[in-house]
Amino acid sequence: MSNPHSHEEIRDAVRALCAQFPDAYFREVDAERAYPEAFVEALTRAGWMAALIPEAYGGSGLSLVEASVIMEEINRAGGNSGACHGQMYNMNTLMRHGSDAQKQRYLPKIASGELRLQSMAVTEPTTGTDTTQLKTRAVLCGDHYVVTGQKVWISRIQHSDLMILLARTTPLGEVRKRSEGLSLFIVDVVDALANGMSIRPIDNMVNHETNEVFFEELKIPAENLIGEEGKGFKYILDGLNAERTLIAAECIGDGYWFIDRASAYAKDRIVFGRPIGQNQGVQFPIADAYMEIRAADLMRFQAAELFDAHQPCGAEANMAKHLAAKASWEAANVCLQTHGGFGFANEYDVERKFRETRLYQVAPISTNLILSYVAEHVLGLPRSF
Ligand SMILES: Cc1cc2nc3c(=O)[nH]c(=O)nc-3n(C[C@H](O)[C@H](O)[C@H](O)COP(=O)(O)OP(=O)(O)OC[C@H]3O[C@@H](n4cnc5c(N)ncnc54)[C@H](O)[C@@H]3O)c2cc1C
Repeated sequence: MSNPHSHEEIRDAVRALCAQFPDAYFREVDAERAYPEAFVEALTRAGWMAALIPEAYGGSGLSLVEASVIMEEINRAGGNSGACHGQMYNMNTLMRHGSDAQKQRYLPKIASGELRLQSMAVTEPTTGTDTTQLKTRAVLCGDHYVVTGQKVWISRIQHSDLMILLARTTPLGEVRKRSEGLSLFIVDVVDALANGMSIRPIDNMVNHETNEVFFEELKIPAENLIGEEGKGFKYILDGLNAERTLIAAECIGDGYWFIDRASAYAKDRIVFGRPIGQNQGVQFPIADAYMEIRAADLMRFQAAELFDAHQPCGAEANMAKHLAAKASWEAANVCLQTHGGFGFANEYDVERKFRETRLYQVAPISTNLILSYVAEHVLGLPRSF
């Protein structure tokens, strides 16, 4: 198993880049609800956004383990990978299930930064987590599919050239299993916005560019179907395992950030004539939260290594995301509490990171759904829904 402290070269290089974007940068972007364009551009130019693209297509051919270290370091430096993590995990769907022609067409341009593949559209307003019930339909008409329906919470579409879309191609009543009959497509965002796709931004608690998306007879060329028609749900699960593992790494990064800040503040802040960190009531929760992060970190590496080895990793990816999101949220609480009133002041960045890390108990999959996955698929308990 990987040593959590390895990958020092990657860590050092990402830290050096992140150092050019200090707390004040992310604070300002957050206050303005802006997209961290300069930061994402710098990551792209340095090749980090093409980490998972094979060298043959112009990327650096790194593993998911290494990609997860990149994401961890961004969050550990005080940034928010949520602005760009889609580019990492969406790539897997294309690389593992796209045709040679699709890979040739898109991957070199994504690697060079000419195109961004930041967006993935799965969630719908009326069906939520019950993905196989989604209502968006794609009907084959000659050399193109016609898409009608609606998505919600579709992130980074305003800063992406390409989007991966999950839609139903065979009605539920005509499939043997509800997970069949769903298909994946590559959508050219600019083209789609002029041809039946529209978006409405959603104001939200974090600075996360996310949107409602509407499709009114959007035409997608048939050649943009990824893999075989009807197998999209199976394909997307692969991508989702990568997503969960990367998000686990981001939570780990957040967690270490909270622990670092809490420890530093607890050493500095003098109340009753001594550092507050000298009180066990202050230091024990920090030590406890640190151990939870360290433990979750191990599961993150296990999930990433299984994914890289093309082994089943659904359980590990889900558990890593769950444990890491819980641990980072606990660390966030401890950090805020340690800072007392100053934890609420924007200039300490604790409240910003507190909001950012809270998201990961809900997205990309909520806590209860992971618990039910483990209960049913790992422990063999009866399906609860
Ligand atoms: C900021 C943000 C960005 C996002 N980005 C994207 C994106 O880019 N692309 C995309 O496709 N989606 C995206 N999402 C959607 C996200 O994946 C969903 O919000 C998440 O999966 C939960 O789905 P839901 O909101 O529909 O909740 P629901 O499915 O309505 O569930 C609501 C609550 O009920 C619980 N619940 C539901 N059913 C059960 C059950 N059977 N047993 C126990 N508990 C249950 C859930 O755990 C949850 O807590 C994003 C969401 C947010 C908030």
